[in-house]
Amino acid sequence: MSLFDFFRPRPSDSAKSELWQFKHWQVQVIRSQRRKTLSLELKPDHPIIVRTNKSTRRKEIEKILLQKQSWLEKNLDKLSRLPKLKPPKLRSDDKIYFLGKKWPIRRSVTTLKSAFLVLAEDHLKLLLPAEMMKEDLSPTMVHQILRQFYLREGKKYLPVMLNTVAERTQLAPQRLRIGYMNSRWGSCSSKRAISLNAKIMAAPSWVIESVIVHELCHLKHMNHSKEYWKLANAHFAKHDEADRWLHEHLS
Ligand SMILES: [Zn+2]
Repeated sequence: MSLFDFFRPRPSDSAKSELWQFKHWQVQVIRSQRRKTLSLELKPDHPIIVRTNKSTRRKEIEKILLQKQSWLEKNLDKLSRLPKLKPPKLRSDDKIYFLGKKWPIRRSVTTLKSAFLVLAEDHLKLLLPAEMMKEDLSPTMVHQILRQFYLREGKKYLPVMLNTVAERTQLAPQRLRIGYMNSRWGSCSSKRAISLNAKIMAAPSWVIESVIVHELCHLKHMNHSKEYWKLANAHFAKHDEADRWLHEHLS
């Protein structure tokens, strides 16, 4: 909640919400008197939101949903693939994905001023200043610790892996950027710069390879055309399995 929300006036005609099942979709219909048009809205892990006025009949809404079916399916699928590492608490024995395996956390006290997560032999050591030991860490702190961990490991590992794949496929980018993003696993710009999401370090190396091949192939085809997929599948055979792994474990 921001200050802006706090001061935002409440809508005068209170909106009413209904929940339906239509085909395989969950649909939330929010009606308000003033609304003239019908709109569809999608959010991750949420029913399809339909905003409309009080008098639109269910049949009409269902007809519009059917007309928009391919748009809905495509975008619902996209939403379900967004990278969302579930925010853990980072308590001792909580497990964190790294290179496809779940690693248990062991907390220990550090004299350093801030928290660090580091790889140990068979666990991840969470070094915490004494005053942070007992309490549950705030979501912001957890985010910072994980971000720093995945970025640090990503910067070590991803350039090496990219080089290997670039050599094998003979597709080399101009530049590699490693970031920490919420919306995608990787991207490729028209200037031949490839960005990889450090969160991909949570996945096994064959899944990381799939993401790298996916982006490298965009150096040849800046789209997802038939030619694109022909090239991508020629360089890596298990893109579907990789997508499934990401979907099942990290979303
Ligand atoms: Zn793509």
